[in-house]
Amino acid sequence: MASADTVFVGSLPLGGGNPVLVQSMTNTDTRDVPATLAQIRALAEAGCDLVRVSVYDEACANAVRDLVDGSPVPLVADIHFDHTLAIRALENGISKVRINPGNIGGEKNVRALVDCLKMHRVPVRIGVNGGSLEKELLQKYGGPKPEALVESALGHARLVEKYGYDQIVLSMKSTNVPDTVQAAILASKVCSYPLHIGVTEAGTPGMGNIKSAIGIGALLLQGIGDTVRVSLTGDPVNEVYAAKDILKAVGLRKEGIDFISCPTCGRTCIPVGEIVNTVREATKDIKKPLKVAVMGCVVNGPGEAREADIGVAGGKTGGILFRKGREPVSVKGDLAQALIGGIRELCGE
Ligand code: SF4
Repeated sequence: MASADTVFVGSLPLGGGNPVLVQSMTNTDTRDVPATLAQIRALAEAGCDLVRVSVYDEACANAVRDLVDGSPVPLVADIHFDHTLAIRALENGISKVRINPGNIGGEKNVRALVDCLKMHRVPVRIGVNGGSLEKELLQKYGGPKPEALVESALGHARLVEKYGYDQIVLSMKSTNVPDTVQAAILASKVCSYPLHIGVTEAGTPGMGNIKSAIGIGALLLQGIGDTVRVSLTGDPVNEVYAAKDILKAVGLRKEGIDFISCPTCGRTCIPVGEIVNTVREATKDIKKPLKVAVMGCVVNGPGEAREADIGVAGGKTGGILFRKGREPVSVKGDLAQALIGGIRELCGE
């Protein structure tokens, strides 16, 4: 299947080897513009590159205009069943539409939507979920198998292509991690459309983070995936932090602080977890890539801490502060504050 490998969401390139974009979704009532904008801004501040909002009725589609005007990042409209809402969102400046061409009521509606997408040069994501696959495909494959997810997505893509549009992003999600991974691998072999990856309805932070890290991480390590969404129950800002951590763990994002901290043991002299949490909270705004170590004792601590840009190792009466290229110094007071001060200094503040 011939396919576009890069699309633009607003001014953001998606696909074609460009940096993998982090996205999330608001869980406010879209019609409540102040609340939704506040959440969009919080997501953007946490590092979200694009934000999706549900557009499920006329009032939501009308709210899109104010949301677009007030948002610091491109917005995506999530639409089901009613193509006229997608058209209204496009007229109101939305940068991307997520829809299932299979559920908007026939080819006439697909054609009208594609004409509008073309006119606004806005890409469409065809998002297939294991829970809403076509009956025929469920029968053909004996359930929501990876092959069924891919066949569904490509079938919908063909409908859009039929009307002369190829600014398409595909996603095939399942709550089952191996199936999600397999579906994206299969799709990456048969088309070059940008892929949105994520494990759907992964749960609450904890197991949800683990499922997402395994599913998304396994794909990113193979070079598959152009935008990621970690799907977690609760405050969507946590999805952004988790997505950024996954990208960092697979080496695709360097900015911000990478913490190295020991698991603690009977030798531990300092509250390692507390120090890490205090420093993490106080340095969330930092974009410079830095390695920061917090080690509980001077047995293994100094060796590890020395590999970092800055670090502390606990001692009986305080700790030792290590900074790359400088002599270690002993610190008696608050180790978290000593680290924060040192980090700010490294950032030239
Ligand atoms: Fe224990 Fe020290 Fe290793 Fe931490 S660095 S786990 S305190 S030996």
